[in-house]
Formats: sequence, structure tokens, C-alpha cells
Amino acid sequence: NPKMNLKRSFSSALGPDSSHLQVKVFVRVRPFNDREKTCACRKVVNVVDKSSLIFDPEEEDELFYFKGVPQKSRDITRRLNKNLHFEFDQVFDQESTNQEVFEASTKNIISSIFEGYNCSVFAYGATGAGKTFTMLGTPEHPGIAYLTIVELLKFIDQAADMKVTLGASYLEVYNENVKDLLYPSSAVLHLREDATGGRITVSGLKVKQIDHADELFALLSAGNRNRSQHPTDSNAESSRSHAVFQVHARIVSNGQVKISKLSMIDLAGSERGAATGCRGIRFKEGSNINKSLLALGNCINALADGLKHVPYRDSKLTRILKDSLGGNCRTIMIANVSPSSSSFEDTYNTLKYATRTKCIKATISKNVMNESLSIPQYKKMVQELNAKLTEIQGG
Ligand code: ADP
Ligand code: MG
Repeated sequence: NPKMNLKRSFSSALGPDSSHLQVKVFVRVRPFNDREKTCACRKVVNVVDKSSLIFDPEEEDELFYFKGVPQKSRDITRRLNKNLHFEFDQVFDQESTNQEVFEASTKNIISSIFEGYNCSVFAYGATGAGKTFTMLGTPEHPGIAYLTIVELLKFIDQAADMKVTLGASYLEVYNENVKDLLYPSSAVLHLREDATGGRITVSGLKVKQIDHADELFALLSAGNRNRSQHPTDSNAESSRSHAVFQVHARIVSNGQVKISKLSMIDLAGSERGAATGCRGIRFKEGSNINKSLLALGNCINALADGLKHVPYRDSKLTRILKDSLGGNCRTIMIANVSPSSSSFEDTYNTLKYATRTKCIKATISKNVMNESLSIPQYKKMVQELNAKLTEIQGG
């Protein structure tokens, strides 16, 4: 098949590094919670091996017994016995720890940050699926954000030949408004685009310098308490905001300055607004969250299909993450799911979304500037090149 050969030679031309161009997708199944343990639920996600799972496994009727008592089927739609096989870069079962998830995922992109690449880690999933547990964690089980900073600082300590400055910012997109979670009293933040419409900055967002990992967990926890959280009917711990934690690195080595950014995003719940029973202002929140998540989904689809036009402009979240999704970026998606049949639809939708994300092929380039050249020097270079061009055209 000539098409296959072409594909193969193309990927080998990209070199050994080309595997990084793909978005890495992980699925984490959290343990049953107390509510799920006491309802007549069944387990609908079976982790088969390191990289695959079966969703909605085929089961015999006797498995619907609960505490020895046969259960009447309450929701036949949740007992489809579809036996669907899903494959991801890695799958983490109920016993997995934040440390294990970190080591298999984010730890592997740390060195890219020092090479000047933008990186991003998304936690996706329905409310209660384990996104915040994975990203922020608890003091006993610190999450990916903390473990990443520890690793970054370790890397900096060992690299004698570079000077690195790290800063952190933490913002929230809630109801299509952007708020600084580290300085919650500050006004709503606006997005600024540079003249060419390429680079987007969050005007007024404060960046705090980081020197120690210890201060970071307290900082993140405080920021997290400032998130706009409202209890809804479906879950008291519902979070309707997107939290974006960013580490900004400035690396100086061999007279070169590299600027890179690591974004860690705890997305709002992916469940459909209709399922949460929201009305009025909550309903508006719901539709805005859908707007940002929908836009993210549309960007993922466009990137997965290799389309020229990616609709980043459609929401605040996708505008902020324009340089952190596809493009100049290495991306990790951690899809969080509940194992219980009571979350059947949410889990199925999350697995489908995660599968779609696997198809993104990013093209990456480094953010490198040459410190030794100034703007007047560049202008002089341009003049010289123009003169040469005139000379060539004239002769
Ligand atoms: P989300 O942020 O997706 O809404 P949370 O991370 O807040 O969900 O998780 C909901 C609840 O389940 C929390 O009480 C959390 O501590 C618990 N939980 C989630 N994932 C795990 C896990 N892997 N191990 C233990 N507890 C978990
Ligand atoms: Mg949360």
C-alpha cells in the first residue's frame, strides 16, 4: 500500500521525537464512593491491562444481586452490556496513586519545558470523577501540580549550565469571566491580543515567583478555595469553573533565552447541564460552561482532523489556552471517570471525548530568542538582506 509507505516514511522523517507530537491521553478510574457502594450499582469500567479497558462489560444476571438480594433493574439503559473496548496511552485503575499517575504522565514532559516547549495537562471528566483529586490532591496525597513543581525544582538544581526563573499564576474561567485565584479581590481580568492576533495575554494576571515546592501546595489550596463553587442538585461538591494553573519558566543558557509555559487545567464538570437540574442563574452558568467545554471540544475536533481553522476564538478558555493546545505545545489529557453504573452516560461520553483527543497531532516549535541580538541589530540585518536582494534582482 503506497499510502501506508508514504505515511511511514513521513513519520520517520520527523525523527525519533515524533512520538511527542501526539497528545498523550490517560484514563483514571477512581474508587467507588460511599454513595455508589450503597446503591444497587454495578461496575461498568474494567481495567484490562496497562493501556486498555472494557466499558459496560457483558455480565450474567446474577451479578445484579446487591448484598445477596436480587435487585430489580432500575435503569435498563445502564445495562446495555455493550462490552466496548477502549485503548489509551495508559489506564489507571481504582488503586492508582497520584504519584503513579504523575510518573507515567506529566513527569515525562518536564524536560521539554527546559527546551522551551509549552506543555499542558488537562483534567477532564464529570463532576465528582476525580479531576481535582488528580490535579490538586490532598496534603496526604498531593496531586500533579505539586509533584510537577517538586520535579521542576529538582531539575533546575541539577542543571548547572542554565539559569531558570519560575513563576506561577492561577486563574479561573467562570461564567465566561476570568478571575485571578491568587488575588481574588482584583477586578475581572480581560484578554489582550497582540497586533497580529497571535499571542493572547491575560491582562493584569499576577505571576508569583516560586522558590520552594512547600509554599506551592498552600498557595494552590488557597487559590482553590477562591474558586466559584455552588452546590447543585446533582452533587454538593459541584465545580462549575475551569481552573488554570500556569508555571512560567524563563531559561537562560548559552546566551539563549527560552520562555515556556506549563498549563495545568482542572476543567469544569463535563456532565450535561440538563442533568444537574439547574435553573435561572445556575442555568446560565451551565450554558456558559457548555460554551467553553464545547469550544474546547470543537478545537480538539479541528486539531484531530488537521483542519487549518481551529475555533480558539469561540470561548475564553480556548483563547487563553490557544498556545497550550495543539500548535506549539505538548499536551496531556487525563480523563477521569467513576466506575459506577450510576455515572454510565458521563463515563461513556468522557471515554469518547478522550478517544477523540488521541487523534490530535500537534506541531511543536521552541520559544527561543537570541539574547545577543537587539531590535536595531535585526533592523540592520533586514536592511542588509534587502540590499542583497536588490543587488541580485538588479544583476
Ligand atoms: P471532581 O474535581 O472531578 O469534581 P473530585 O476530585 O473532587 O472530583 O473527587 C470527588 C471525590 O472523590 C472527592 O472527595 C475526592 O477526594 C474523591 N476521589 C476522587 N478521586 C479519588 C481517588 N483516585 N482516590 C481517592 N479518592 C478520590
Ligand atoms: Mg473539582
